[in-house]
Amino acid sequence: MHSKQDKKLKLLWFQGVTCNGNTHSFLNLPNIEQLLENFEILYHPILPSIYSLEEILKLEENCDLFLFEGTYDPLMQHNGVELSKIVDYYTKHATHVISVGTCASFGGMFKATAPERNSGLIFNEEESFGPLLEQKQKVINLSGCPVHPEWLSYTLSMIVSDKEVEVDELHRPIELYSNLAHHGCTRNEYFEWKVDVDNFGEKEGCLFYKQGCRAPMTHASCNKILWNEVSSKTRVGTPCFGCTEPDFPRTDMFSTKTNMSIPQDTPLGVPKRSYLTLTGIAKTFHIKRLEGKLIDYKTTR
Ligand code: SF4
Repeated sequence: MHSKQDKKLKLLWFQGVTCNGNTHSFLNLPNIEQLLENFEILYHPILPSIYSLEEILKLEENCDLFLFEGTYDPLMQHNGVELSKIVDYYTKHATHVISVGTCASFGGMFKATAPERNSGLIFNEEESFGPLLEQKQKVINLSGCPVHPEWLSYTLSMIVSDKEVEVDELHRPIELYSNLAHHGCTRNEYFEWKVDVDNFGEKEGCLFYKQGCRAPMTHASCNKILWNEVSSKTRVGTPCFGCTEPDFPRTDMFSTKTNMSIPQDTPLGVPKRSYLTLTGIAKTFHIKRLEGKLIDYKTTR
C-alpha cells in the first residue's frame, strides 16, 4: 500500500473529552504495525510518536491526516492551550480529518459534561454543529463506541491508496455503514419467528423483543465484519445498543421500549402496521426446534 506521492502521510491523533476507548480498540487491530508503516506518526497519546505533547502544542508542525477522538469541548485545555486553537490549527492544514468514535462524530457519551457547548466535529447528534462546519467535506465520521478497528483500518487504507471514501449524509463511509447491525446476526431465524431470549448470554432467541436490541435500527457492520475477527455483541447474547447512531447514548439501553406491549421502534423501513401484521402471523407458529435449547435438540425435524 503506497500513497499517491509515495511518501508517508503525516498523521496526528488528538483527543478531546474521552475514555481512550477508541485508542484501545485500534490497538486490537491484528495488522496494526503493517498499517502504521504507511504513516509518520507526529503525535498519538499512546503510540510511539515523533513529537511530545508539549512540542505539538507549540502549533508549528503540519499534518496530512488529523484524527480526533472524544467529544469536542472548545474550552478544554491541554497544558494551558485551548482545544479550539489546537483543532483549528491542525485541521486547516490537514487534507483529511477523521472523527474516531461516536463522541467525536456526534457528541456521544461526554456531551453530557457540558451539553450547551460540547459536540462532535461537525454534528451535535444529527444537527449540523461544531468547529469544522466550514471544512466539513474533509471530515469522515467513524462512529461507534468504540469504533471497530477494522473500520478505521479500511478508512486509513483508502486514504493511503488515494481512493475516495464515499460517505452518507452523516459523513459515515457507505461501505461500512449501509448495513444494519442486524444483517448477519446468527439469531435472525429467531427474529423472523418471534422467539425471544429471556436472559443475556443465552445462545437461543432474539434480543429485540425483551432485551432492547437496536440492531434492526442501527447502521453498522458488526455482524459482517466481526470483532476480533470472531464475534459480535449479539453472537455472545448481548443486545446491540445502537452505539453508531447520533442519538447514542439512550436511557434504559437493555430493555425494549413498548406501548401496550408493542415495540415503540420497529425495524428500519418497515411500516409499523405491516410489522405488527407479520408479527401476529409469525407468533401463531410454534417451531419446536426453536423453542428449546439447541444443545438438547437431537434432530432437525
Ligand atoms: S438479536 Fe438483534 S441483531 Fe440478532 S436477530 Fe435479534 S434483533 Fe436482529
